[in-house]
Amino acid sequence: MCPDLSRRKFGQFLAASLLLPLSAVAQDNEAIRTLHGQLDIDYFKANKAAQLAAKENQTIIVIGEDALLTDASFKGEITLNDEGLIERLKIVSGQVLAAFKPRNDRQSELILPNATASIRGTGFYANVNHTYDSDYLCCCYGRMVFENATTGEAQELHNRYHTAVMINDVGDFAKPPYDAPYGHYDDEVIMLEAVVGREPHWQLPDDKLQFLAPYSLPKI
Ligand SMILES: [Zn+2]
Repeated sequence: MCPDLSRRKFGQFLAASLLLPLSAVAQDNEAIRTLHGQLDIDYFKANKAAQLAAKENQTIIVIGEDALLTDASFKGEITLNDEGLIERLKIVSGQVLAAFKPRNDRQSELILPNATASIRGTGFYANVNHTYDSDYLCCCYGRMVFENATTGEAQELHNRYHTAVMINDVGDFAKPPYDAPYGHYDDEVIMLEAVVGREPHWQLPDDKLQFLAPYSLPKI
């Protein structure tokens, strides 16, 4: 990955954010911003928590220095910490690619229908489709510690480049039946980190991006 590319994209994001239409700014406050797509935000707990429902594919949401890219079926709930970062993300349905700000003392919580994970700072993708019994989760880089929903046993995903699992309805992990990351691409991960001024801290095989989106990404 080229560091200059990310800096350029971040510059484009800053320029684009200054040009957001007033209507887009009016529906958000500073805690949760929608950079692309459409999102319903229903705040509660004095704006420290919100229910989110995306209305379009490629909805990009920035929460402090965390960022989410969702599909149109995403529904979830977030709680913010005192710094305005995500303290807890519950994914009720849909697809989410996430870039959480890395911090050693961070213990954010990810809640899927079949599992709960603790996150310090990482890139991950989750797909919660109620047609299937299992959740799909990819740790794109970083570290996630899951607690088995039945046994309470800890299961850790710690890697530098896309490790995916299926998590069934009793919390057990299984290998996904795919030979590539499902539902997300390397250039989407780069784009998402760039909107919060970072680069993915992954280790690319042969120093090359392996999985590129077959569709165009939002220009931000
Ligand atoms: Zn991944």
